[in-house]
Amino acid sequence: MRNYIGNLFEIETKDENSKILLFDGYLGSRQDLLDNNEQDELNNKGIETGFLKIDIENNQIEKLFGVAPDNEQELIDKWFEIILSSNSEDPLICMMFTDLGNELGTLSHIASFSIIGTGSDDDKLLEHINSLLDLTDIYNNTSKKIKSTIRSFKEKIKGIDSKNINVISYNVGQGNAIGIFHGKTPLFYFDLGGGAYWNKKTYRDVISFPIDNNPFIILSHWDFDHYESLRSKIEHYNECTIIAPLQKITPSAKKLADKLKNLILIDQEFNNGINCGFFEIFRCSGWTKNDTGIGISIDLKKENDISKILLPGDAQYCFIEKKYKTNIDAICVSHHGGKICNEENFPISTEKDKGFCVYSYGKGNVYGHPLNESKETHKEKGWGNNSESESEDEFNSKDGFAYDTTLGDVMYRKYNPLLKCRYEDFCRSKEWNAKIDKLLKCTDE
Ligand SMILES: [Zn+2]
Ligand SMILES: [Zn+2]
Repeated sequence: MRNYIGNLFEIETKDENSKILLFDGYLGSRQDLLDNNEQDELNNKGIETGFLKIDIENNQIEKLFGVAPDNEQELIDKWFEIILSSNSEDPLICMMFTDLGNELGTLSHIASFSIIGTGSDDDKLLEHINSLLDLTDIYNNTSKKIKSTIRSFKEKIKGIDSKNINVISYNVGQGNAIGIFHGKTPLFYFDLGGGAYWNKKTYRDVISFPIDNNPFIILSHWDFDHYESLRSKIEHYNECTIIAPLQKITPSAKKLADKLKNLILIDQEFNNGINCGFFEIFRCSGWTKNDTGIGISIDLKKENDISKILLPGDAQYCFIEKKYKTNIDAICVSHHGGKICNEENFPISTEKDKGFCVYSYGKGNVYGHPLNESKETHKEKGWGNNSESESEDEFNSKDGFAYDTTLGDVMYRKYNPLLKCRYEDFCRSKEWNAKIDKLLKCTDE
């Protein structure tokens, strides 16, 4: 028997009949948690943190939690006490992933499952957990620095001719990592994520992104598929300033936040958008971690090429202001092509049906991203023809099109010589190299 106190941070739709529940939490009992007063102690010597994944049928969710399948989102952000067992007679199973353990995860049975919040000592426990995970202190410490950080960020990009800016969506498996480069120099990154834990197979070799000139790193939100590349090579980015939203976070994310030397948290500051010349940074207006993240709208003023780009992170489009969604050429599809909860107020492409979209997902990911439903909706709303997204011919098309970043894709319609050397630096397999080379040669003609 082993205790686990976990936060249900995400419910992914696997198929019509089943869901995936994802927890981030502490491998310990209530008492273990209450006995740990110092966050540092908790991280370094105290209770280990870990992720838990449960594949579950919709009717089981109803049975276990008394919530109808359409309403299970109300369980998000709740804390659960889970007793793990090795008794094969306990029918519900889960996979446990710790940073120290087996990356394939360890299979466990679940002896019992309960929501924390109704018992007599629950208030005390929740209050304690919340205090461990609170970023407000870090935020207050740095709030006076926010203005100067934004100023120095603006300073860095001032006077740069936007026509020489390249926006690249990297292949990091199931995750998101976008580089905004001036020539060969990175100006900033928007997310440095990647596949990990149950999606580790989609991102075996973590990329060391170039850091000449100490680029800023903006994290859209605190989900690991948006920070895994940063977390696993943290010393490499020591000198970089990290900008992230002030959000309610989970134990593993807090562990990372504590290690970041130059972390600037943003709360209300981006609510009205911050204009930085060729791009604007804004905060999305929903209420979940995904939907309250940071987004970016870019306008490179390029003619005959992709110029206006929307980078929503994992936020649903309905939580992004209209001005960022009108007349754009390209989007990095929200939430890796996951479920679209609200089809209203979709982004509008400059040329009808020729909108260009990139799906940043890792082939073979456990969520089945991008979902057909998402590809179909994007197509219907004027975002290219998704159906042939993996064909090479389409990559070379001059028209708007959609493709995935399984092979490492780039937001260009045209060949750019800089691209080639960048790919040589980052390529992960010979096969991948050869394929990209071939594609580049074609577009060169
Ligand atoms: Zn997310
Ligand atoms: Zn994500």
